[in-house]
Amino acid sequence: MSRQNHKSPPFPHKPGGAGGRSGKSAEYATIFLKADREKSLLRRHPWIFSGAIGSVEGAPAGGDTVDVRSARGAFLGRAAYNAQSQIAARVWSWQEEHAIDADFFRGRISRSLAVRRSLNIARSGNAMRLVHGESDGLPGLVVDRYGDVLVMQIGAAGAARWRDTCADILHELCGPACIYERSDSDSRALEGLPEQNGVLRGSLPDSPVIEERGLRFAVDVARGQKTGFYLDQRDNRSLIGALAQGREVLNCFCYSGGFSVYALRGGAASVLSIDSSEEALLLARRNVVLNGLDAGRAEWQCADVFAALRKLRDQNRSFDLVILDPPKFAPTAAFAEKAARGYKDIALLGFKLLRPGGTLSTFSCSGGISDDLFQKIIAGAALDAGVEAQITHKLHASA
Ligand code: SAH
Repeated sequence: MSRQNHKSPPFPHKPGGAGGRSGKSAEYATIFLKADREKSLLRRHPWIFSGAIGSVEGAPAGGDTVDVRSARGAFLGRAAYNAQSQIAARVWSWQEEHAIDADFFRGRISRSLAVRRSLNIARSGNAMRLVHGESDGLPGLVVDRYGDVLVMQIGAAGAARWRDTCADILHELCGPACIYERSDSDSRALEGLPEQNGVLRGSLPDSPVIEERGLRFAVDVARGQKTGFYLDQRDNRSLIGALAQGREVLNCFCYSGGFSVYALRGGAASVLSIDSSEEALLLARRNVVLNGLDAGRAEWQCADVFAALRKLRDQNRSFDLVILDPPKFAPTAAFAEKAARGYKDIALLGFKLLRPGGTLSTFSCSGGISDDLFQKIIAGAALDAGVEAQITHKLHASA
């Protein structure tokens, strides 16, 4: 992967271009949908797939703002266009009076920050997701805060076009020491965007350390996975900490050791952590030390979890608490069947490694696997493992 600091955005913003303040439709190119293809937009799903487009009026470039209209000409939304993606447009605003300009982004980012304040996420520490793409009305833009470092991840042409504007606004509103871009997710290729990694504002401290519920974690912003840390597991980490007292814990797919550190603080008798990445394990070990936890209770394995679980079974090892937090097996529903086999396989082995009365804590972050299907997969695994299981918690990503 290319990790150099590209200085210019892929779509340099044209001053005075298609982002006028008045929001008059005449300033934007227009895409007209095919007949009867506006239903999802009327229900506020912000994506327009290329197959739904009947015609394009004007010659919008990637990232340009366009008006979206029904076949009969009714205004549906104002969107970012990208002919290179199957998601040909992503809606910025449902309101015709909204111009898409710096003020628009200041408004949206301010609103995102206000939501985090109202949820008081800062009570848990100084790391949180500040902007969550479509759900904050900012398609393709993710911003994570790690102490005084902000990481921007840009996954769509519209967000790429407005990257520098958003960086300026974030700088103005949050005053971070550094804004770092980590735009290297696989989905960039589907959008026809090159990878971009590097400092956008300020300078990156040697190794940012965040604080979460009194624990400290080193975050590898430049080379770690995603934007550096799995913020979505914040509340689930707490639960694991609360369940760990006196227990022998197996933490599979441990990455930088979030669950391991919480389990050790929670008084686990031992924690075996497994990941296939050496760098992840180094970071995880560092995080145990950073918290002054007894490294003697921690065991580490660099291995493929599918193979490691079989080996542990063959060695007759057993645990009181098994955590399975694998990477995304099914990005879309098309991968669901294969993914289901993977989730079932590890859950079945996980159940077999549990002592009677033990707890399996198993996760899926696959968009292609519904909650219902996941429950069926895990229930099937329990049945095949010959254990009697009950569901004690249904866990989700943190706010
Ligand atoms: N539980 C972690 C996040 C896990 S992300 C946390 O809370 O921070 C998924 C992890 O699985 C990554 O660290 C990746 O390196 C690892 N991984 C992916 N495939 C693997 C495999 N087959 N065996 C072991 N680890 C794997």
